[in-house]
Amino acid sequence: MVMRETGVIEATHLSKAFSDTEGENLEALSDFNLRIQPGEFVSLLGPSGCGKSTFLRILAGLESATGGTVRLDGEVVNGTDYRRGLVFQQPKLFPWMNLYENVAFGLRSRGIYRENKHKVMEYLDMVGLADFSRSYPYQLSGGMAQRAALARALINSPEVLCLDEPLGALDTFTRLNMQDELLRIWERCELTIIMVTHDVDEAIVLSDRILVMSHGPESTVIADVAVDVPHPRHDTDADSAVELRHQLLDLLEH
Ligand code: ADP
Ligand code: MG
Repeated sequence: MVMRETGVIEATHLSKAFSDTEGENLEALSDFNLRIQPGEFVSLLGPSGCGKSTFLRILAGLESATGGTVRLDGEVVNGTDYRRGLVFQQPKLFPWMNLYENVAFGLRSRGIYRENKHKVMEYLDMVGLADFSRSYPYQLSGGMAQRAALARALINSPEVLCLDEPLGALDTFTRLNMQDELLRIWERCELTIIMVTHDVDEAIVLSDRILVMSHGPESTVIADVAVDVPHPRHDTDADSAVELRHQLLDLLEH
C-alpha cells in the first residue's frame, strides 16, 4: 500500500431513497458506513441491484444522499470535482473527439491546458495508447476505449478513482490484462481506488480489502475482509485465496 495522506473516504449513516413506479419510497441504501484509507484499493462487492452504483454516484457527487454524509479528507462531498475521478462500465468517450482531445478535455475545461499540454501524451503513453492519439473512439477495441477512459480521468490527478464495474463489458482475456494494468496504474499514481464489482475473483485479484454489501433494499456493508494474498494473484491456488473465495461466496448468498 502506498503511503500518502490525502484520499480518505468516509461514509457515515448514509441512506438513499428512490420513489418506485407506484410512488412508494424505496430505500436503496440504509445506514451505510465505510472508511477507506489513503492509497487503499478497496472493492465494494455485492449482488446486482444492491446499491453499488448508487453509492459510487453519491461519492462522485452525481447524486445526493437522502441522509448521512460522504466525506473526502473530512470535507462533505457536494457535487462533482476533479479530485474524484470516475470510470464507468461503458467508457463514455466523446465520439466526435480523437483520443488526444478526449484526454485533453479535463485540462481544457479547467483552463489549464496550455501549461499542462505535455501531460496528454504522457497519460496516453501510460495506458499504452500513445500511437493512437489521432484515432477516434469508434476505431478502438473495448479494452482500448477503457484505457482511454482511465487516462481521461487520471490526467486530472484525482485523489480518488471511483470505478463502476470498469472491466465488466470486456472479454475474459482483455479483462485479465486490464486487471494488471489497473494495479500498475494504482501503484504508479498513488491513488485511492474504490471499485464496484459483482465478481468475487476480480475483487480478490485487485483489492487490499473487500467490503461486502447485503441484498437490497436497505443495503448496507455486512463484511469487511482484508485480502492477505501475495501478488500476482491470477490463478493463485494459495490456500488463503481459496478460503477467502468461499467466505465471500457464502456472504453473497445470505
Ligand atoms: P447496483 O449497482 O448494485 O446493481 P444500483 O445502485 O444501480 O444497484 O440500484 C440500487 C437500487 O436502487 C435498485 O433497486 C434500483 O432499481 C434502484 N435505483 C437506482 N437508481 C434509481 C433511480 N434513479 N430511480 C429509482 N430507483 C433507482
Ligand atoms: Mg451498478
